[in-house]
Amino acid sequence: MQLTDYKGIWVFAEHRNGRISDITFELLAKAKELSDKNDEGVVAILLARDAGDMSQKLLNRGGDRVIVVESDHLKEYKAITCAKVLEALVDKYRPSILLFGATSMGKDLAPRVMAKLRTGLTADCMDLDIDGDGLLIQTKPSYGGNIMCKILCPTRRPQMATIRPKVFSQLEEMENPKGEIVIENISVEPENDYEILEHVAYETEGVKIEEAEIVVVAGRGVSSKDDMKMIEDLAKELHGAIAVTRPLVDAEWYDPSIQVGASGKTIKPKLIVNIGVSGAIQYNVGMQNAKNIVSINKSPKAPIFSISHYGIVGDYKRIVPLLTEEIKKTRSQ
Ligand SMILES: Cc1cc2nc3c(=O)[nH]c(=O)nc-3n(C[C@H](O)[C@H](O)[C@H](O)COP(=O)(O)OP(=O)(O)OC[C@H]3O[C@@H](n4cnc5c(N)ncnc54)[C@H](O)[C@@H]3O)c2cc1C
Repeated sequence: MQLTDYKGIWVFAEHRNGRISDITFELLAKAKELSDKNDEGVVAILLARDAGDMSQKLLNRGGDRVIVVESDHLKEYKAITCAKVLEALVDKYRPSILLFGATSMGKDLAPRVMAKLRTGLTADCMDLDIDGDGLLIQTKPSYGGNIMCKILCPTRRPQMATIRPKVFSQLEEMENPKGEIVIENISVEPENDYEILEHVAYETEGVKIEEAEIVVVAGRGVSSKDDMKMIEDLAKELHGAIAVTRPLVDAEWYDPSIQVGASGKTIKPKLIVNIGVSGAIQYNVGMQNAKNIVSINKSPKAPIFSISHYGIVGDYKRIVPLLTEEIKKTRSQ
């Protein structure tokens, strides 16, 4: 089999309780963009007990084709079962690219599939492109997040990557798109080593930072925990969520679930307000795609200003209450 025999950009469709995860729609949108360059078409892979209307949703969001495998053994996500099904599908159809979300499911599944297929896998990508030779350029933070590294997989297929959520934008839902749904009848083996008894949702207070449209981030420049009150007041006035940089998690002021950055969450809100944040690359990669970036820092040389749309040079202790007051006034007018 020649490398050129492998064709197609595949996206593993993640779903829970009959709902496709946002990361899948983000990957379909990016796959579509890549397919415009290599003309290989976008295929979503859906493994489920009952596909329901999920196959059509995948076509509506950028899939040219959906390959569906249905089985009672796919009632719950189980890594070994899914990896075997994916191996069989890849053996049959030979895609050139296979993409997963860098989510707990994708990070669990992709390496198992990679090992079975004896190919390469780039984890935690922040960007994808196609080079002049048709190879997938996989960009990810490396060396402690200090550089962005471009990785190629020139000699094995498929080229595999996991991609962070909220890096790519979703396509608008299309009405009656062209495309086909293929029901694949391959045998699905049960995985009986363990049984899933129940799912317990991880509880967070308020809106999750990855879902909030407005996020106010506190960094190490915030010198005392008492000052968080004024930052929380600003977030409340903006109807936004609070997030933090890693030093505030390390100091145990806040839970890691609200940390932004390379070892935290990637977020893409409409507005982000950075307060006392220097703009280290490991932080920036988690929020640089936000639509509007406002930063408050006492140092005019802080690197965060180079990626900000609006910057305020000054002490947050003075600026934040003034800002909150102004927003309050504007709201009451
Ligand atoms: C492998 C690895 C992964 C990492 N992952 C992450 C990650 O996911 N997220 C993350 O955040 N970091 C991460 N880091 C750490 C990262 O390198 C930085 O150390 C961290 O982002 C710095 O946080 P900061 O900007 O809050 O603090 P600092 O860099 O200390 O910046 C504080 C800023 O506050 C300003 N300031 C001080 N006083 C005031 C004041 N009164 N008013 C206004 N401004 C003021 C200062 O001028 C300064 O710019 C990681 C590092 C490594 C090696």
